[in-house]
Amino acid sequence: MIDSHAHINAPQFRDDLEAVIRRAIAVGIEKIIVPGYDLPTSLRAMELAKKHDLIFATAGIHPHDASKSPKNYLNLLEQYATDEKVVAIGESGLDFFRNLSEKNVQIMRFSEQLELAKSLNLPIIIHNRNADDDTIETVENIGNTHGVLHCFSGSQRLADWAIERGFFLSFTGIITFSDEHHGIIRNAPKDKICIETDCPWLTPAPHRGKRNEPENVKFVLEKLAEIWEMPVEETDIMATFNTERLFPKIAK
Ligand SMILES: [Zn+2]
Ligand SMILES: [Zn+2]
Repeated sequence: MIDSHAHINAPQFRDDLEAVIRRAIAVGIEKIIVPGYDLPTSLRAMELAKKHDLIFATAGIHPHDASKSPKNYLNLLEQYATDEKVVAIGESGLDFFRNLSEKNVQIMRFSEQLELAKSLNLPIIIHNRNADDDTIETVENIGNTHGVLHCFSGSQRLADWAIERGFFLSFTGIITFSDEHHGIIRNAPKDKICIETDCPWLTPAPHRGKRNEPENVKFVLEKLAEIWEMPVEETDIMATFNTERLFPKIAK
């Protein structure tokens, strides 16, 4: 299994990270992608990736943090991306649900990171919440064709557009307690679907209410297998294959 999006660089894991990684390995997780959401957490992800073979990092500024990023942030992300274990730019994107940064600032930071990803030939990790139209417009403007809509929560129209452009869709534990996006999963080509925990948030059933961690990606995998009506083992092979195409630098 791969957890394609796990924030074990977040402060919630400061005290027991080694145990969390051991539990992940014990359930059969072979790779964990740790996305940065600002400059310090991008560096922290890189530090973890250096220490643990199974961990890979990404470098980016989350829309919540868009207005707090220093002026030279793009140069720094570009520098981080030269690290062999930094496998994508992001997570970046638009969040018009919580609106912790102003809309136009979010769009500007997102555009800049899309440009960076394109120029470095790296995938972009996109966070989208209540911003389907602006996500489509911003990506179309820059022209990226490689990346993922992580924690997919958009419309069928957004899913169709993303797949048409070459993007992957990634699903979290939300699919274990809500069937809202099961139709979108069924309608999508199987070779475009990835799974993630987005921990420490979005804990899947049956552990809702507790801190989420990478080992719980197994519950997302089991639910995906149920939706696909496929054995769990084959579902795992497919999802792993997809994540390795999404992040070519992890597939060695
Ligand atoms: Zn996100
Ligand atoms: Zn995230």
